[in-house]
Amino acid sequence: MSGKGTVLVTGASRGIGAACVRLLARDGYDVAINYARSADAAEQLVREVVAVGRKAIAVQADVGIEADVIRIFTKLDSEIPPLAGLVNNAGILFTKARLDEMGQDRINDTLRVNVTGSFMCAREAIRRMSTKYGGKGGAIVNLSSAAARIGSPNEFIDYAASKGAIDAMTLGLSKEVGAEGIRVNAVRPGLIHTGIHASSGQPDRVERLQQFVPMGRGGSAEEVAEAVVWLMSDAASYVTGALVDVAGGR
Ligand code: NAP
Repeated sequence: MSGKGTVLVTGASRGIGAACVRLLARDGYDVAINYARSADAAEQLVREVVAVGRKAIAVQADVGIEADVIRIFTKLDSEIPPLAGLVNNAGILFTKARLDEMGQDRINDTLRVNVTGSFMCAREAIRRMSTKYGGKGGAIVNLSSAAARIGSPNEFIDYAASKGAIDAMTLGLSKEVGAEGIRVNAVRPGLIHTGIHASSGQPDRVERLQQFVPMGRGGSAEEVAEAVVWLMSDAASYVTGALVDVAGGR
């Protein structure tokens, strides 16, 4: 089966990123799987993609470090071209805290990975996909969060603000490259069952807060990934600058 090109998914060893990889492979894309530390999980995912007849590579890199970002794209160019899309999924949050308890290192790290990392990956993707640079166009899907709307008081305002920046980037960039064959959209998940909540010291966060979700439950990584792959696909060919809530009504 001839493919649709390669999609780079950052932070794809676990959670929503891994679910995106599985659905993209199902839909005929080759995939570049970026991860930070979970090499075994990333390699296992490569094997899953190959088993369904698509190509895949795993690339360790911290998206918050410029040299690492450039290394991801250089490897992709040489091993699994051409780039058809980017899912800016890698994201972090730190332990639940009020803003008046947060130090500079934590705030900077959150913004470095979630914001600067997404910006640098988008930049490298545009340099390859934009018709301005001789590319064939493509799509970028950013993982924002319902936190951008809610603000995450008493938990992680730094994280919420980083996702507010992603919303603004999505809106601005969609207009900047709209005539260059590139669509830019964001998905804003609500409470999703992944390991990210353990990073905030609240592994039971979804179970505790799901009573406040109008649909009465947390979501799955696959339910978020379905929206991501739709925005990536030609079925969304006239959709750009959209912020799509996948949050059970929250
Ligand atoms: P997760 O389960 O914690 O997985 C995070 C992924 O990002 C892992 O693959 C991790 O790699 C990778 N990663 C972390 N830091 C990285 C870095 N500096 N460079 C490259 N990769 C890095 O997270 P998730 O819940 O799937 O979240 C995915 C995205 O959705 C994030 O942007 C998050 O903010 C957003 N989101 C999640 C929820 C939710 O409820 N889960 C809600 C709204 C938005 P390793 O495995 O190697 O550590």
